[in-house]
This record gives sequence, structure tokens and C-alpha cells, in this order.
Amino acid sequence: MHVVHLSVECFPLAKVGGLADVVGALPRYQRKLGVDAWVVCPFYDKPFTRDHNFSSIAKGSFFQGSEELHYEVLKETSDSLGFPLYLIHIPSKLDRQEIYCYPDEAEQWIAFQHAFLHWLKNSQIKPDVINCHDHHVGLIPFLTKHASDFKEFENVKTVFTVHNGQYQGWMNWSKGILLPAFDTWKWGLLDWDGLINPLAVAIKCCDAFTTVSEGYLQELYRQANGLEDLFFSEAAKGYGIVNGIDDAYWNPGEDKLIPVNYDVESSKKGKAKNKKVFCEKYGLDETLPLLTYIGRFATEKGADLLSEIVVNVFSNNENKISIFILGSGDTQIQTNLEKLLTEYPGRLAAFFGYNETLAHEVYAAADMILMPSRVEPCGLNQLYAMKYGTIPIVRRIGGLKDTVRDVSEKKGYGFVFPEATPEDAASAIERALDYIGQRGKMQTIRRKEMELDFSWDKSAQQYIDLYNRL
Ligand code: ADP
Repeated sequence: MHVVHLSVECFPLAKVGGLADVVGALPRYQRKLGVDAWVVCPFYDKPFTRDHNFSSIAKGSFFQGSEELHYEVLKETSDSLGFPLYLIHIPSKLDRQEIYCYPDEAEQWIAFQHAFLHWLKNSQIKPDVINCHDHHVGLIPFLTKHASDFKEFENVKTVFTVHNGQYQGWMNWSKGILLPAFDTWKWGLLDWDGLINPLAVAIKCCDAFTTVSEGYLQELYRQANGLEDLFFSEAAKGYGIVNGIDDAYWNPGEDKLIPVNYDVESSKKGKAKNKKVFCEKYGLDETLPLLTYIGRFATEKGADLLSEIVVNVFSNNENKISIFILGSGDTQIQTNLEKLLTEYPGRLAAFFGYNETLAHEVYAAADMILMPSRVEPCGLNQLYAMKYGTIPIVRRIGGLKDTVRDVSEKKGYGFVFPEATPEDAASAIERALDYIGQRGKMQTIRRKEMELDFSWDKSAQQYIDLYNRL
């Protein structure tokens, strides 16, 4: 079976969040299971594209409105990611330093999708399945069925994976003329509430859609940023498949980015050594439990609650805990946290920005990780944290609910709180502090979570089972 994953993120080529981690790992696990899985992404101006060798395998051009766009398809020569990686190079449209936040984003993603289909058609490549990831490539299930130039793909199955339903890629109908020619009487499939909505298009037109956890699938029927009714009416083709973790890269036993490697048996000493190095670097007290937050500063992640949680926790637990925050995004959230850094020197430290190496160091050094998310389709942080023996303190939502079991339950190994409020988060942190303060508890819980199996093997097979059903 030949499957093409189409995405605008793929680790380590280009990453903003979990989407990249999934697209950079899932195809490798699928290949191990006998599927010929490829990845197709835009060619960006990024370190990965500068440091790797590519061979040109196709060139072409098409009109986007009145603008003629030329593209080149480049294949990474050594397949260093463990799967064939194809990048579509469209000068001035896609070869940029950042992935998102350009004013012509609609033009960028339409061009990427058009070039992809144009290339497949002209190279006579006909995959069995195109697995599209998130709204940036949400027009593909429509175009393969209704664009006059791409009729040969009518029977190619399309699977659409929702990594985040909050972002939908809305565009004004004035962008409609930029799309490849399509049966105009099908325009209604493109429309949602008077806009072209690529996420809605994908859900309407795909053969099946998946979400990155079962819990998130159920939540989308009630809370999907305006698409609740659509998800509900298309429920028959929806599947929840939880993300896995790439244990070739996220593995404390072999991780080259952390100071000291460790496994379950050596986790007590190993984590203590990592924590010592880390606390010395950031001026924190290594004898105190270390709580961390890693992630985007977005309200969806509950990052706006962090300052209040920090104040709340410190005021009730003086000298009982240190906190380290790694994140970037909303500048107001960052400003609020910066103020607190001066109020709690030696107890609160932070790094504002994106830093992959630091994330690994933090997972290895921290005792607990906090995720006060309002929306969490799957959440990878808690999975990485547990793999590194770091206890998750998470809100009961989406994938967090599916992957973290509270210590009060049978075989529990984490702390779950009901609402995304500073009070609920702070009381869960206090509960965790009390718990790990008891002799031997910390190591017992750490062992339990490090032995959990969140590898991709099972989930990669579930995707393949779905492709086979289609
Ligand atoms: P989302 O995709 O919604 O941002 P996920 O939990 O699915 O959330 O994935 C987040 C990924 O991004 C993880 O790999 C996490 O370690 C990483 N990450 C988030 N923020 C940062 C940061 N500031 N520095 C390094 N890694 C980060």
C-alpha cells in the first residue's frame, strides 16, 4: 500500500508543535509495518534544507489566478528520516524562514496543494491513500474529487487527521479564484458560514477523518470552534487514534541532548544528576521538587493562567517548590511571567523562546509537569514527560484525559484536575507535592509511568487498519 502524508510541518524539517512530531515519526513506524509511506512538505529556508542534500525529481508550473507559479519537487537523497521526504519548492511563496503568520498564508497553502496534485498527475504517481494533516492541506479531499484537472484522483482515498480543530484556515471567498478549476455547482462544499473553511471542506469531503485521541473526537461534537454540527453529522467516518511517541528520539536511555542518560532502574540517580546540572544553570534549588511548563503561550494551553498559578502555589508553599517555564507565543503572557521572575528569584526561572535541546533537558530534570489546557487534542508533553519519569499534572480534557490516570484510581500515575482554573491547578500541584513528599512514593509512580507503552507501533497499525478498510 502506498500512502502519502501531506503536511506543512515535519520534525526535524520544520516544527511548531505536535503536528511536526507526528508527521516526523508515524510514517517511519508505518514503513516498519510494510506500508510505503512518504511525506510531502513545503521547501522552507531552514537549517534542515541547508544542511541536507536533495535531488530534483520534477518541475512544473500552473496558474494561481493570473499568476504563473513555477515549482520544483526535491527529494532528500539519503532518506535520513527513515522515509522518503519530498519537498515542494515554490520560489517566493514557500521558501521562507517561518512556517506561519504570513499575510498571504491562503495563497501559500493553495499553491502547495495545487503543486502537489500537479506533480502527482504529471509524474503519474497515484497513491492508494493521501493522509492530509490539519487545515493547511484540507482542500485536497475536495480537489481530488471535484477539480476538473485532477479527476484521475477521484478514487484515491483521502484521510484527514485533525491535530487541532481550533484553527480552520478560514479564507474570504475572494480567494476562490485562486483554486484549481472545480465544478462550480459544488461550491457549497467549500463554504462554511460565508467563508471558505478548509477544515470544514476536509471533514465534508474526506473518506475518513481521524483525531489524535478518542477523547478529543468526542469533544469535537460539543466544542469545535463552530464546526460541532458538522463533526456530529459526519461522525460515521470519524476515528480517534491516539498519538504515540517516537522512542528513537524521546528516550532517556539514549537521548544525546541530556547530560546523563538513565532508564527505569537508574532513574532515581539519573534524574537527580540531570536536575543538579539544570538547577545550577538556572539558579534553582536542586533539593526542592521542580515543576515545569513546556509549551506554546496560548489560551488554548491555559498559559494565561500560569502567572496566577505561580503566585498561588508560592504563597501557599513557601520554599517547598521551584518552577521552570519554557515557552513562547502571546507577548502579554510572557510579560506577566517576566514580572514574576523578579519577584521570585531563585524559585522561578524561565526561557522564553523555542529550544528543542532545552525541552529535552527539562523533561529529564523536572519532577512534575503542568498542563492546564483548555483544549488538548492529544498532548505530547505529558507522554514525553512520563517517558522521562516526570509526573504529569493535567487538566481532565481531550488526550490528557485519555493518557493520564489519577493516583486516586487503580494503577494511577498522575494528577488530574477538573477545570482550567488557577485554583484547580494549584490544588492539584499541592496534592502532588503531598504525595511525592511521602517516602518512596515518587519512585513508585515514576517507575509506573516509565513502564507505560506509548510507542507508535499500536497507533501506526490503527491508521493502517483504517486505510485498509477504505
Ligand atoms: P501543540 O502541538 O498543541 O503545541 P503538543 O503537546 O502536541 O502541543 O506538542 C508540543 C511539542 O512542542 C512538544 O514536542 C514540546 O516539547 C514542543 N514544544 C512546545 N513549546 C516548546 C518550546 N518553547 N521549546 C521547545 N519545545 C517546545
